[in-house]
Amino acid sequence: MENRLPHKPASCKHPAPSREEAPLWRRAYADAITRADELLNLLDLPTHLLEGAITGDRLFGLRVPRGFAARMRRGDPNDPLLRQVLPLAEEARETEGFSIDPVGDLPSMSATGVLHKYHGRVLLVATGACAVNCRYCFRRHFPYGDANASAGQWRAALDYIAADSSITEVILSGGDPLVLGDHKLAELTQQLERIPHLRRLRVHSRLPVVLPERIDEAMLDWLGRTRLQTVMVLHANHANELDHTVARACGRLAAAGASLLNQSVLLRGVNDSGQALANLSERLFDIGVMPYYLHVLDRVQGAAHFLVPEHRALRLHEQISRSLPGYLVPRLTREDAGASHKTWLLG
Ligand SMILES: *Cc1c(COP(=O)(O)O)cnc(C)c1O
Ligand code: SF4
Repeated sequence: MENRLPHKPASCKHPAPSREEAPLWRRAYADAITRADELLNLLDLPTHLLEGAITGDRLFGLRVPRGFAARMRRGDPNDPLLRQVLPLAEEARETEGFSIDPVGDLPSMSATGVLHKYHGRVLLVATGACAVNCRYCFRRHFPYGDANASAGQWRAALDYIAADSSITEVILSGGDPLVLGDHKLAELTQQLERIPHLRRLRVHSRLPVVLPERIDEAMLDWLGRTRLQTVMVLHANHANELDHTVARACGRLAAAGASLLNQSVLLRGVNDSGQALANLSERLFDIGVMPYYLHVLDRVQGAAHFLVPEHRALRLHEQISRSLPGYLVPRLTREDAGASHKTWLLG
């Protein structure tokens, strides 16, 4: 049977996994849309958008899984999902007060890939790769290629965590940790469970939303097996992202014992209305996910057109606080370099 992996670029440095080893999600991952003209064509969008898209794409490559693109409205350049991934000419504009490392994480990152900023939990940068390139992300300046952390690289991080008994929770982050294969993740999880003071494993991932195929048997197997309590923090910004495929993935994660939370970013032209935010919370709850954080934008160079000023953010938060039950109101937060926790903004 001639059944090769589709669209594997010839220049790819990683060898293609053999047929037996390539799960469906890997093929969907590799098959993402990376050309602006293809995305515009697929969505019946006017060709005048192409020039700006190419300008933005040069700064940070366009990347969007096909399943995510399928949830966008055809013919609508203002579609809230499209706006998150379509490169624009504005991205080339330099804006004062916007930098390439607004949160100041790079200097505080140790060689081990461990970020220990807050009490009791450490963030482990498991990989730099992502399934989608979100235009507002600080990662746009550090796409890190597709470098995967190898098993050997965990050693220093594991030693660090084992040596500090105040650490009770490990957060796998990135990039997107679920871009790593199940074998690697299972091995890491097993090593973490041997550290007696660890209680929780948290995974920060956008894959259940943008590539729900990722939540397959092999993934649920290692997640459901660990002695650690598991928390999955998704990242969705608009209710339209959460279709039935995402709902099914969330149902399976919950059945495997994971607590499900969501963090979103307040983005101009995507979710900056009381109605959009309320719809997002309601839809999240429909599929078993609790709203957790609503972040104000990190002031990253190239993303200034997404900025919602803080006074407006506070007004929107106040608006949803009035219309939703308390448990559906996410905390409005900002990340300040050097702070001991995320800053909660209160009106
Ligand atoms: C956001 C973040 C965490 C997690 O913070 P919570 O408030 O527990 O969600 C942990 N470490 C770092 C470095 C972070 O940026
Ligand atoms: S998935 Fe997360 S880390 Fe990756 S580009 Fe989007 S916002 Fe950034």
